[in-house]
Amino acid sequence: MCDQCAGTGHAGNGRGLRRRTVLAGLGVGALAWGVAGGVRGSGTASAASLKDASWCNPARGYFPDGGHFGAPRGSYSHAGQDITNSVGTAVYAAAAGTVIARGTNVLTGRTGYGIVISHGSGYYTYYGHLNTFRVGSSATVSAGQWIADMGATGNVTGPHLHFETHAGGLGSVLDPVDFMGARGVDLGGGWSTIDPEARGETVKVIQSLITQRGTALVTDGYYGPVSVSAVKDFQSSRGLVADGQVGPVTWPELVYTLTRGADGDHVKAAQTALNKHSAGLLVDGDFGAVTDSAVRDFQSVNRLYVDGVCGPVTWAALVG
Ligand SMILES: [Zn+2]
Repeated sequence: MCDQCAGTGHAGNGRGLRRRTVLAGLGVGALAWGVAGGVRGSGTASAASLKDASWCNPARGYFPDGGHFGAPRGSYSHAGQDITNSVGTAVYAAAAGTVIARGTNVLTGRTGYGIVISHGSGYYTYYGHLNTFRVGSSATVSAGQWIADMGATGNVTGPHLHFETHAGGLGSVLDPVDFMGARGVDLGGGWSTIDPEARGETVKVIQSLITQRGTALVTDGYYGPVSVSAVKDFQSSRGLVADGQVGPVTWPELVYTLTRGADGDHVKAAQTALNKHSAGLLVDGDFGAVTDSAVRDFQSVNRLYVDGVCGPVTWAALVG
């Protein structure tokens, strides 16, 4: 828990720090602040309710007690959701965008090293208590790109990510669990949910897996009628509800457990998913030494069991 986060006596003077003061201190004066007065809960997560494959989980971990959105923090309430894991755990961009601030306490007081990403259309995400930055201060980032390492900077009682979601302008925070859930992301660490008409790298993963299952699809990243029809056929063949939604029920049926030596479109799917998280692999369908190393690295930085086996747990992290 952090100071924004921690109501546990470590907050010190920061407790009295009001959000609008912190926002004013961001020093990005050219920004149109819109409703930057910090009107909590305004705006709505339904503006883009399509589970569209363009958002992803920023970090693996668990929700600490009292780390939820809206938890009381003295004179204000917690503006984000805390996700706890060890120092060095990978932190990924929740969606494509541009880094607009990177530094110390750049958005919310006493949250240490942080990054603000603008996603356009009034959407912003904030990542606090970071240990190490992995992108520049004005970088263009893709969804799932490794942007930083989790840390314990700022006022904390232990390492964790302080994650905020803003809609309708910077300062208009929404519950990240709801916001991400509306976009098909289980912030708690489960499988993603992808609906028809979605676009993104995770759709390419689905297309490659369906191809391996026997129905060749073009891996264009568009979950259109042809791909949806193929998924429905697959669901029917497995006795699942043929709704075309790839979520927690369908994913486990769709993925393969892969190890070194595997060869095929399922490996291309894994390589595509690894690349979404900055692996930089050639998508050649060959699970050789390089892919094996990439799987182990991914498992390591996400605090999964490191065995080089791309099984259900690793897959859920890859496509989450
Ligand atoms: Zn927090």
